Amino acid sequence: MYDIVIGLEIHVEMKTKTKLFCGCSTEFGAAPNTQVCPVCLGLPGTLPQVNKEAISLAIRAGGVFGSTIQPISQFSRKNYMYPDLPKAYQITQYQEPICIGGGIEVMREGERVMIRLERIHMEEDPGKLMHPEYEFFSLADYNRSGIPLIEIVTKPDLRSPEEAVEFLKALRTQLEFAGISDCRMEQGSLRCDANISLKEPGTEILGTRVEIKNINSFREVQKALEKEVKRQSDLLRFGEGEKIVQETRKWDTGKGRTISMRSKEDAEDYRFFDDPDLPVIQLTQGQIEAAQADLPTETAIQRRERFQMSYGLSEEEATKLTEDAVLARLMDQAGEGHSDPRKVATWILTEGLCLYRSGEGFRVDASTLLVLLETVESGGLSHSAAKQVFESLWKIGGTVDDTIQVLGLQQNSDQDELTDLIAKIVAENPQAIAEIRAGNGKAFGFLMGAVMKETKGTANPKIAKALIEAELKR
Ligand code: ADP
Ligand code: MG
Ligand code: ZN
Repeated sequence: MYDIVIGLEIHVEMKTKTKLFCGCSTEFGAAPNTQVCPVCLGLPGTLPQVNKEAISLAIRAGGVFGSTIQPISQFSRKNYMYPDLPKAYQITQYQEPICIGGGIEVMREGERVMIRLERIHMEEDPGKLMHPEYEFFSLADYNRSGIPLIEIVTKPDLRSPEEAVEFLKALRTQLEFAGISDCRMEQGSLRCDANISLKEPGTEILGTRVEIKNINSFREVQKALEKEVKRQSDLLRFGEGEKIVQETRKWDTGKGRTISMRSKEDAEDYRFFDDPDLPVIQLTQGQIEAAQADLPTETAIQRRERFQMSYGLSEEEATKLTEDAVLARLMDQAGEGHSDPRKVATWILTEGLCLYRSGEGFRVDASTLLVLLETVESGGLSHSAAKQVFESLWKIGGTVDDTIQVLGLQQNSDQDELTDLIAKIVAENPQAIAEIRAGNGKAFGFLMGAVMKETKGTANPKIAKALIEAELKR
């Protein structure tokens, strides 16, 4: 067995309205090359002007992770030729990043361990290239060119693929909570490169590392790292350790394996130098404090523990609810207003999580959710009808009453109509009636289910129950 050593480099798109050095919109999903200008296209004669909002958000990020904010930092040029980079250099921070140090805690064998950060620096995103299959050309979309990023670089402190994923999840939630990024991996606003090496247990000397690029979900991070642990440990075990070379490997999601992209020998020389077009960034203590005002003070682990304690949730439930800032916030706001927060959690986990993960709109607010739960609890809406209302509130929004009207789920308390329906159902199900009389509670549920199905969930459950009982006594 070898010790696993992992360090991550994470690129996060900051939530600014405009790009890092020009006024172009950062809105995701626009038609290709519609959000561009001479500056972000790198045309000759243009000058960049730094976006203050981006600097504030980078300072916030440093605050969230306990980094030191440097009073003086600087932009440099990283020179390389590639079609995604029309200027032939990327503006990034090199020797003087805006934030140094800091860390994020993860759990290791029941203990909290600090995963230290090396640095957080700002840079501009290059454009996006697409290589259509079976075509002789590639396409370039420069909408992304110049979008402000922070790159967060960790020390090689992570010890397993699972730990790397836990770290990333904590990082994502904290950035979301602090309003720095919406961290949508599927939209590319959070991207991760993973560095990994193995070493003999007990030694302090780190092994040769491999960098894995092109990983686009947390699940893939775990898979890619596990695969690389296996590849490297097989080589070491069979005395072929020299075959582990410092290189960049690409994760192929479809094939589930890493492929060598380039070795360190042909590592590029980026000829970094200070960008003469941009002044150094000088920050006063006042500016730093203003940018870090009202930062969330809770860490991801503290939030999960609080959810377990104050809402009576299991570790798994609390983890699911706190992994995402949107759900955690909904839980906090609705949980406060309910005498039994567990019920709120159950609704969010059983009905909401799936909708949320499918990327459906998120339009429900805490007070509306509470109105819905009250309506169910007071018997004004059956559980199955409430599920339909919940889904609509989540995706479309609106009030509980309006949604009930629109979906035609007004409760049917018309006794005569229900009595007739129940008489019919009872007559059609002699088997169930016999079982109920023999004391089988499940059979009663079956009849209730039949009534709800026939009425599309609109029967008042209390009245229906009373009517079934009355029918059985005949
Ligand atoms: P580079 O300048 O080539 O990008 P860095 O020193 O900045 O290299 O390291 C990049 C990342 O690799 C960091 O996250 C760091 O923690 C990680 N790293 C460095 N050495 C190792 C190693 N031996 N094993 C695993 N990860 C490592
Ligand atoms: Mg690096
Ligand atoms: Zn522009």
